[in-house]
Amino acid sequence: MASVLVPLVCAAVLCCAGCRDGKPHPSPRTPVPPQPRPNILFISVDALRADYTGRIGGKPFTSAMDEVSDMGVLFSRCISSTSVTGPSISAMMTGGMPHRINYQFNATPLDPRLFTLAEILNFAGYDTAGFPGTSLLSSDYGFQQGFDFFDNDFDRSEYASNYWKPGEIMTASLIRWIDNRKSRKPFFVWIHYFDPHDPYIAHYGERAGQEYTYEFLNDLYIRQDPGLVQAELEGILEFYSQEVFYTDRQIARVLKHLRDKSLLANTLVVITADHGEELFQHDLFYGHGRSLNHAVLHVPLIIMFPGKKYAGTRVDTGVRTIDIFPTILEQAGQRAPRSAQGRSLMPLITGAERAHRPAFSTREPLSFYRSGRAAALTEAEWKFIYFEQEPERLYNLKKDPMEFENVAGSHPAVVKRMRSLTLKNTLEDSGYIPPVEPEFDGRDYRMLKSLGYLK
Ligand SMILES: [Zn+2]
Repeated sequence: MASVLVPLVCAAVLCCAGCRDGKPHPSPRTPVPPQPRPNILFISVDALRADYTGRIGGKPFTSAMDEVSDMGVLFSRCISSTSVTGPSISAMMTGGMPHRINYQFNATPLDPRLFTLAEILNFAGYDTAGFPGTSLLSSDYGFQQGFDFFDNDFDRSEYASNYWKPGEIMTASLIRWIDNRKSRKPFFVWIHYFDPHDPYIAHYGERAGQEYTYEFLNDLYIRQDPGLVQAELEGILEFYSQEVFYTDRQIARVLKHLRDKSLLANTLVVITADHGEELFQHDLFYGHGRSLNHAVLHVPLIIMFPGKKYAGTRVDTGVRTIDIFPTILEQAGQRAPRSAQGRSLMPLITGAERAHRPAFSTREPLSFYRSGRAAALTEAEWKFIYFEQEPERLYNLKKDPMEFENVAGSHPAVVKRMRSLTLKNTLEDSGYIPPVEPEFDGRDYRMLKSLGYLK
């Protein structure tokens, strides 16, 4: 591990001006932009499918996110680096693919030698506050790095479980932090809403309070009985939709509060998801983390700039969630460490760049997943998925955007080209750190089982 991380640290040292806690920090870009630096609100939603947002999928559950899309920039084809919470968020927070930063499994430590968004912004003079909605993203695993304030309380009796918090509690905590601030520095706030993740809970209507638990959904999956799935599918989709709507209402509350406090006009708002959710469209799957299907890799990405600059812009070329890291830093007048693999989205927003960005994604093997490692490459027209122990898949995204028909057999030249690119940039990447399945302690094991990651 150290042999790979040393170059990361060395690369960052090259652009560092100072050290703290024995750890070098990147220096601000010079010259510093003359305008006041924006506040930054980074909202990640767990398991939010892109097509459940209004401006991408046309569904009516996300009026707040739709409004932000209209006042900002909508990326209609953003692809996540993986479909697992911890690896996906750590990649966004560091700008490096999970296999490069060695964050490949949930409930494992984020390497303290990596530079996170919060650390770089905090060192650059930002007040930083983090509100992780699941203990998978807590200080137990190093996600507090760089945050002045980190709401890490998961053991209150009124919470639904020890492992995640309802959005209302998260929103209230964020609002409290905003209201109690005395500082005049700009802020960087990250909030991760967990609600669309299972269990799917009904918040409204006759079935309010009922839920589809992980155990129930997993039983449906194990039985592989289409009749049983069909009988519950309408309810499952309704409850999931309500979770999306509920989360959108939380985002609306946060935005209204910032507007009421006259803070929104100078705030960069970024909304995305760690991954999507499989809703029984492939092999009776539900949840996420098992596949690299479009359903779990396609995520919403919305950026609203201060003063509504670029309002109404829609970017339909492909981008990646690792591109968020350098984009946010650029808006704060900061340079991304050279180890970051993503690239700023600004050229796509201004129109200086129009090319689709190839998106690589990985899935590591765990005994409870399907066999072997897997990696994917999403291009404008084609999607390729490599499996170590299963047949490869190729989909024509223009004809088959939801990836139902594997056409690998009829396009050998495309498969050959994409296999080579995929392996070179993932499993055979010179920075690849071979995964070792972690040994979970009892607490981790119970949490992962509760969240649906273990059978
Ligand atoms: Zn997640």
